[in-house]
Amino acid sequence: MKETDKTKRMKEIKEEVINLKKSPLYKYRVQNKSFPVIGEGSHKSTIMFIGEAPGRNEAATGKPFCGASGKILDELLEHIGLERSSVYVTNVVKDRPPENRDPSPEEIELYGPFLDRQIEILQPRAIVSLGRFSMKYILEKFGKSDWIDGISQIHGKVFEAKASYGMVKIIPMFHPAVVVYDANKKNDLKKDFEVLKKV
Ligand code: URA
Repeated sequence: MKETDKTKRMKEIKEEVINLKKSPLYKYRVQNKSFPVIGEGSHKSTIMFIGEAPGRNEAATGKPFCGASGKILDELLEHIGLERSSVYVTNVVKDRPPENRDPSPEEIELYGPFLDRQIEILQPRAIVSLGRFSMKYILEKFGKSDWIDGISQIHGKVFEAKASYGMVKIIPMFHPAVVVYDANKKNDLKKDFEVLKKV
């Protein structure tokens, strides 16, 4: 797909999400004068990082992973010599759930198709799911439900799946926010990023 077509289709997604009045998160977004977070990064990237849902900083700016978890993500990217601008970063749910609660199954079902379209547009060769909601969504989407297990069991493993555009490697990882609560997890994440580098 041409670069201009990718940008056009991403803009269409953005417009649709902005006007997604049927979302249970729409009112909260408007009341807080905040933004949906569609995604950010290179449309040429072969790697896509998928988080769960925007937090406070992200909803205030419209940019994914720009708060505390974003700093950790940047550090991990740097660890394997990747610039944030060279990859694509998005979330399953595009609006912030109140008080940063977990996204509900209904919200995941409502916003999931936008992510599906983003995957079709970017056609990544590697998808990194960050956190258990993203892991579950992606493994189910690519017919790997049998592999869904605790994230502690399967983080850093590489799953090969068939996408409409060819093969894609899926690597589930811990959500970077875990490092805020458990500093030891940074080493796990670093090792998983090294797996990504090899892939
Ligand atoms: N956590 C996420 O899952 N996504 C963000 O964009 C920020 C924090």
